[in-house]
Amino acid sequence: MKAVVVDAEWAPRAGYRITQFEEEGRRAVNGNGIWRNPQWNVVKDYPEPKITAPDEILLRVKACGMCGSDVHMYETDEEGYMLLAYHTKFSCVLGHEFSGEVVEIGSGVTRFSVGDAVAVEEINYCGTCRACIMGYYNQCPNAEDIGFTIDGAFAEYVVVKERYCWSLNPLRDIYDDEKVYEIGALTEPTSVAYQGMFTRSGGFRPGAHVAVFGCGPIGLAGIQLAKASGAGSVIAFDLGQQRREIAELCGADHVFDPIELARAGSRPAEEIMVATRGEGVGLALEASGAGEKVFPEIEDSLDFGGKVVVIGIDAKPAPILFAKYLMNAGSLYGSLGHCGGDFGNTINLHLTKAIDMSKIVTAHFSLDDGVNAVKKTSERVDAKVLVKP
Ligand SMILES: [Zn+2]
Ligand SMILES: [Zn+2]
Repeated sequence: MKAVVVDAEWAPRAGYRITQFEEEGRRAVNGNGIWRNPQWNVVKDYPEPKITAPDEILLRVKACGMCGSDVHMYETDEEGYMLLAYHTKFSCVLGHEFSGEVVEIGSGVTRFSVGDAVAVEEINYCGTCRACIMGYYNQCPNAEDIGFTIDGAFAEYVVVKERYCWSLNPLRDIYDDEKVYEIGALTEPTSVAYQGMFTRSGGFRPGAHVAVFGCGPIGLAGIQLAKASGAGSVIAFDLGQQRREIAELCGADHVFDPIELARAGSRPAEEIMVATRGEGVGLALEASGAGEKVFPEIEDSLDFGGKVVVIGIDAKPAPILFAKYLMNAGSLYGSLGHCGGDFGNTINLHLTKAIDMSKIVTAHFSLDDGVNAVKKTSERVDAKVLVKP
């Protein structure tokens, strides 16, 4: 079968302390510390995956999103190390935001049948460690990650485990399969936003204002989820013109370019206070990865009891002024991943048409063109690039 395969050199950086877990499994907990010179190739005769355990399902991939993490396994720093500071094991078929049709099921699979449409959680948590037992599946230190440590869905077929699959069949009553599978592929990033805004932080009170910093797929999902949940208004910020346009399409009431604001002698916090008639926001979503710039804006525009949800990953520290949190009874939530029921809820929100994430797709590529798909995504103009076998 065809697949987009990435390989890289195992070359631990001077100063990177490899653990026994990494050495034995030839896997990196932080890819940026170990993997050098990543090579992306479209392989025409990659072996087709096979079911080898009773709980496995063979999927024909229908759509797979290109993610910022994929770009970070394509781009390198000055020393040639890939940028991604996350679990990785190469060589590997990439692709972790995907949907597919069930073509074969293992003998122990009970919830799915051949022909079903499914979306799949990328984080394959172990279920037995301390984090998992406490309900922190996304923090599982033993997780395998589809498209990072085990073969993913920039391929014609992928094998997945039943417990990470969610049915998209109900959506077939209201949308054609083309759209159902696109929504399926967008379930992962939508659920990442949902996890932070609702599962982790408990959400905001209907009528409260919401600010979204960064209008990549997570921020755009955040805008739609905030509108669907009754936000008084949503104020969004991004440097990219196309992303700002899609932010409006997703329902943001006010959208700003922080650079233009600076030129005009204003700043995001000021605009938020104007837009909210001096009230500030009940929830601020940091989805830009530019914490250094964003935190002062958040802290100057937080309503009483306001929540700050951090999803954007930033290697640099961000300045935090405790006084703002004390004075405003603010709280800060770190969030990662999408496991724990978020997939089911975001699929339900699509069923009621409260959200429609298929509107953020700005480009399609075939598998043959998989390398161009990551190149295009690395230009950081698109909202979401989909690869369809
Ligand atoms: Zn992703
Ligand atoms: Zn675990």
